[in-house]
Amino acid sequence: MQIGDDIIQYDTLIGADGVSSQLRRDITGKSQRANMYIGCISQTDLNKLEIRFWDKLKGFGGVISNNNFSMIGVGTGNGQTKVFSHAIEQLSNENNVDTRLKACSFAPTGNNIRLTLGDNIFLIGDAAGLASPLGSEGIYYAILSAKMLAENFNKTGYIHAMKKTRKHFRRERFYKKFVLNSFIRNRVFGLYRRQILKKTVDRFARSLLQKDLSK
Ligand SMILES: Cc1cc2nc3c(=O)[nH]c(=O)nc-3n(C[C@H](O)[C@H](O)[C@H](O)COP(=O)(O)OP(=O)(O)OC[C@H]3O[C@@H](n4cnc5c(N)ncnc54)[C@H](O)[C@@H]3O)c2cc1C
Repeated sequence: MQIGDDIIQYDTLIGADGVSSQLRRDITGKSQRANMYIGCISQTDLNKLEIRFWDKLKGFGGVISNNNFSMIGVGTGNGQTKVFSHAIEQLSNENNVDTRLKACSFAPTGNNIRLTLGDNIFLIGDAAGLASPLGSEGIYYAILSAKMLAENFNKTGYIHAMKKTRKHFRRERFYKKFVLNSFIRNRVFGLYRRQILKKTVDRFARSLLQKDLSK
């Protein structure tokens, strides 16, 4: 097969080359959908843990502080460049973080899973699209898929071994679509912001605490 200018010969090919997998692109002719992240690090402890949603952004951002540094970041799907830039700009201005030091990366959405590209071409990890649709976590699934492929080194065996994971992803996609869609999410956070839900949540949290203390 030809990859770029190189002709390679193989018995078995395993694509473990991440979310922008060249192998996947060369064989299928297209890249998978990916979530885009931008993050900036500030060398000061902002003493904050904040999660922020924007009305038009299909994703979220926030601030996480550690002992001697803080990180601000925003993540979203493809095609939201304008609202995405606005979100990162707003967060960095509010927190005085220099966006010239930002880094951008991509993670799969858990929507375009391809475990094989033929009888003896396999994909694992991000190259296969194996990441949580809800949170984009993919480290566990990268290791799991490598293990499953090593133990079931044929097309049907590997697909069968990953059946449970795919079922789990289908459930996550359902939650993402119907439970966490922006309409419901904005209503719930709106109520929380307007103190209506906040009282109930605070009361519930206090009752849990009292229960613990009385033990
Ligand atoms: C900002 C961010 C935060 C994340 N946080 C988490 C988290 O908290 N928890 C979690 O579980 N997951 C997280 N993820 C996702 C996680 O990083 C990936 O799912 C995981 O690293 C996938 O592993 P992988 O081995 O499949 O791919 P990768 O880790 O991307 O490894 C692919 C490797 O292939 C190499 N490569 C690419 N092309 C070629 C080529 N043509 N030739 C040779 N080598 C090539 C790359 O250099 C790279 O080393 C995060 C992702 C991002 C972007």
